[in-house]
Amino acid sequence: MEQAVNTEHLWMPFTANREFKERPRMLVSASGMYYTSDDGRQILDGTAGLWCVNAGHCHPKITEAIRRQAGEMDFAPLFQMGHPKAFQSASALAAIAPEGLDRVFFCNDGSESVDTALKIALAWHRARGDAQRVRLIGRERAYHGVNFGGIAVGGIAGNRKQFGATLANADHLRHPLDIERNAFSRGLPEYGAALADELEARLLALHDPSTVAALIVEPVQGSTGVILPPKGYLQRLRDICDRHGILLIFDEVITGFGRLGAPFAADYFGVVPDMITCAKGLTNAAVPMGAVMVRRDIHDIFMETAPQGAIELAHGYTYSGHPLAAAAMLATMEVYREEDLFARAAATAPYFEDAAHSLRGLPFVKDIRNLGLVCGIELESLPGKPTARAIDVFLRCFWDEGVLVRTTGDIIALSPPLIIEPAQVDRIFDAIASALRAQAAQPSSALYG
Ligand code: PMP
Repeated sequence: MEQAVNTEHLWMPFTANREFKERPRMLVSASGMYYTSDDGRQILDGTAGLWCVNAGHCHPKITEAIRRQAGEMDFAPLFQMGHPKAFQSASALAAIAPEGLDRVFFCNDGSESVDTALKIALAWHRARGDAQRVRLIGRERAYHGVNFGGIAVGGIAGNRKQFGATLANADHLRHPLDIERNAFSRGLPEYGAALADELEARLLALHDPSTVAALIVEPVQGSTGVILPPKGYLQRLRDICDRHGILLIFDEVITGFGRLGAPFAADYFGVVPDMITCAKGLTNAAVPMGAVMVRRDIHDIFMETAPQGAIELAHGYTYSGHPLAAAAMLATMEVYREEDLFARAAATAPYFEDAAHSLRGLPFVKDIRNLGLVCGIELESLPGKPTARAIDVFLRCFWDEGVLVRTTGDIIALSPPLIIEPAQVDRIFDAIASALRAQAAQPSSALYG
């Protein structure tokens, strides 16, 4: 048992701090599919940390690469100089990039990758003499991180309203979740591709399409409850963007690096965007790192239009391409390749799907949505307590079942490391089933929230 830590000074992100501090949930070590809690329990990680530890925790190869790099060179800037591993990292990413997206800009996380991509989109149009293209379009219920660009194109009012003004030039399409018609769809929903046409209608009705710079979408909306694109939907968005000269950005911070059983969702869906944002699985989360993968000719416009000797893009971070992140990233890419983890995820996905849908019919289960190794289980909410049922499941899983799940609204989200074994899949869904039964056996007034 570890000594109790003083929790008063840390202001925790996206956390009900006061509730947490009444009974802290502390993780002290991790290995493979498991965390160890401060009371010595093994917690099966059903969420790969925060959708990020795709190769499992503390992979020895990644750990060793970081250790070696830390002793060799701690930091070097990428401003007006470089270090080999940053360039090698970019090449390693380019090597698995969807067709043509082989120019790479590094940053430190998903939020920065989103804001970087939006800025590249705006700057690209200006570089081509199309400076009136200033509008950015996202979708309702989209999560694109927490920086100003990300919350503006993101579709979560709760992430904006505390701050008043954000970017004025953002607009939103409807999200494609339609539980009535698509409930318990296994994989991609049948109905709803036509929702993509709303983009065109909006362009023509609301403003001149020639004022729109970019559309950003998560191919699978993750953080707000696993919202899957209906069959054909993403291709229709691609076609509309092409017709109107609008850049299409896929935010693959969650879907990148094998979550759907392919390197990127762009590969899985066979739809190639103009830019991809990524982070999380890029380094197996062992060191923070994000990246934007950019279509080569978009990059080239900057190189061709800026005067020789001038900085082509006025953007970058002290830690862009940080040596520790670059070392972790290179090792992570090797692990993905050597262990064939994307194919492994694809092979486990049908088992995961069956296990997920075995929860159908249990108390409160309203919908189950899954694709690859990601799943959302939506519960019937209690009136006036829109998150209580899922939080109760999360707490029971953590304390009673030794399983880590995630919640968003009244949805339980799962995204295990890609190395998960069938028996561990069973354990996760058995734990959720037990938690739901236990909840049903208690009065709902007892629920927290
Ligand atoms: N985009 C998407 C799609 C995400 O899911 C997230 C994080 N869950 C982000 C951006 C933001 O990433 P970060 O928390 O690393 O800034």
